[in-house]
Amino acid sequence: MECIFCKIANNEIPSEKIYEDEKVIAFNDLDPQAPVHVLIIPKEHIKSIDEITDKNSDIIGKIFIIAAKIAKEKSLDNGYRIVNNCGKDGGQTVEHLHFHLLGGRKMNWPAG
Ligand code: 5GP
Ligand code: ZN
Repeated sequence: MECIFCKIANNEIPSEKIYEDEKVIAFNDLDPQAPVHVLIIPKEHIKSIDEITDKNSDIIGKIFIIAAKIAKEKSLDNGYRIVNNCGKDGGQTVEHLHFHLLGGRKMNWPAG
């Protein structure tokens, strides 16, 4: 499958992996927008939040638990932001569900 994040999950494309279990991986974003910018993704190819159903929604909770764990490990004690871009207007550029964990600086709000 021609999906860049599936390839990262399968180790076909290198990445700076910082977490991995049976269902989830986390790795540093190639183009970081903050001192800490980690992408957390399900290994399963789910296109976006639009494809979350009662059957696969467990993965979302799992991802948020991992995000909070990584934030702690990275000493983001002043806070952090978790972002999901969904679809064209949401700014999604990679069509494999992912959450951005951003921290290490004060975030702006509302987001552009
Ligand atoms: P989106 O815009 O879809 O929410 O986020 C996609 C993110 O994936 C972007 O922040 C982009 O920098 C990152 N990205 C795209 N290709 C690669 C890659 O090959 N490796 C890594 N580590 N990040 C990537
Ligand atoms: Zn994929």
